[in-house]
Amino acid sequence: MTEAVFDPAGQPAAQPTPIPLRELLPWAVFGGLLLLLALYFVGAEQGATSLVPGMYVHEFVHDGRHLLGFPCH
Ligand SMILES: [Zn+2]
Repeated sequence: MTEAVFDPAGQPAAQPTPIPLRELLPWAVFGGLLLLLALYFVGAEQGATSLVPGMYVHEFVHDGRHLLGFPCH
C-alpha cells in the first residue's frame, strides 16, 4: 500500500517509475565493458601488452596506476 505523496504546494508529487531489468541490462553491460577498457588502459597499457605505440598512454594514467596499486616501477 502506497500513500499519496504531496509536494509543498499541495499537488500530488510525481512518483518514480521503476526501470525494468530487461531495459537496464544492455546499458549495464555496456558500462561494464567501458570500465574494463579503462581498467586495461590504466593497468596494462605498457610493454608487451601495449596497444598504442610510445609511452603517452602510460604516462597519462601513471598517477592512476600508483593510486590503484598496479605494479609499475
Ligand atoms: Zn610508476
